[in-house]
Amino acid sequence: MGSWVGSTWKWDLKWRRIWFEWELPQFRDHEHLLSRVSLQQGRQDTSYWIPGLSGTFSVRSAYKELQTLRVDCSQIEKFSQIWDLPIPPKAAIFLWRLFHNALPTASNLLRRNIALEDISCPFCHAQPETISHILLTCNVTHAVWNECFLWLNTTTVLPEDPVMHLNFIPAVLDSKEKTQKWRVIWCAIAWNIWNQRNACVFRHDQFVQQKLMKEIILTAWKWLRVKQNKFHIPFYLWSINPGLCI
Ligand SMILES: [Zn+2]
Repeated sequence: MGSWVGSTWKWDLKWRRIWFEWELPQFRDHEHLLSRVSLQQGRQDTSYWIPGLSGTFSVRSAYKELQTLRVDCSQIEKFSQIWDLPIPPKAAIFLWRLFHNALPTASNLLRRNIALEDISCPFCHAQPETISHILLTCNVTHAVWNECFLWLNTTTVLPEDPVMHLNFIPAVLDSKEKTQKWRVIWCAIAWNIWNQRNACVFRHDQFVQQKLMKEIILTAWKWLRVKQNKFHIPFYLWSINPGLCI
C-alpha cells in the first residue's frame, strides 16, 4: 500500500484491474484527495472534524458550518426525489450523478482536462456529448422518449433540463401512485439509454431503437415488480403498452 521515504509516506496502491476510461475522473479525484493528506510517523490515525477549531465535533461548530452554506432548495428536491423512488441503489446513484452533471460524458471529461480524440455524441456524431444531449435532446434519444410518451398518448415539447424532464408529468397520470410508477419508467429509460451509450462507446455496438425499447420495458417491469408490493401486472400485458398498465 505504501512505504516511508525519509519522513514522507509514498502511496503504492495496487489495483485488481486496469481502470475503464469512464472511471479515470474518479480515480484522479481519489489521488487528489490522498495527496492532500500528510501522514506522520508514529502517530495513530484519528478522526478530525474540520469545521471545529480543536478538530473534535461539536453541535455549535456544525451549526455554524451549516449557516455558512447556501442552501439550494432545488438541490434538496433533487435528493428527496431520488431516494424516495422505488428503484435499485445502482439506479439511484446513476440518477444522482445525472442530476449533478457527474456522468463521464465527453464534455465532462474534457472539463477535467482529459484529452479525448472525439467529443461528439456517440449516437448522432453531430453535437458535443453533454448529459442533456446524450440522454434527452439528441435526435436519436429524443425519438426514444417520444415513443415512451406515446404509451401515455402524449406528444409534447420536452424540457432539456433533466430535473424538469423527470418532473414533466402528463395529465393522464392523475394520482401520486401513477406518477411514481412513471418516474420509475423514466429512470429505466435514462438508465438504458446510458447503458446503450456505454455499449456504443466501449464495445462499438450499433444503436437499435427497438432493441433498446425492449430493454427499457423489461427493466421498468422488473424494478416495479421488485420494489412495489401491489404491482402484479404480467409481463405479456406490460410489454404491449406499459402506459396502459400504470
Ligand atoms: Zn447526439
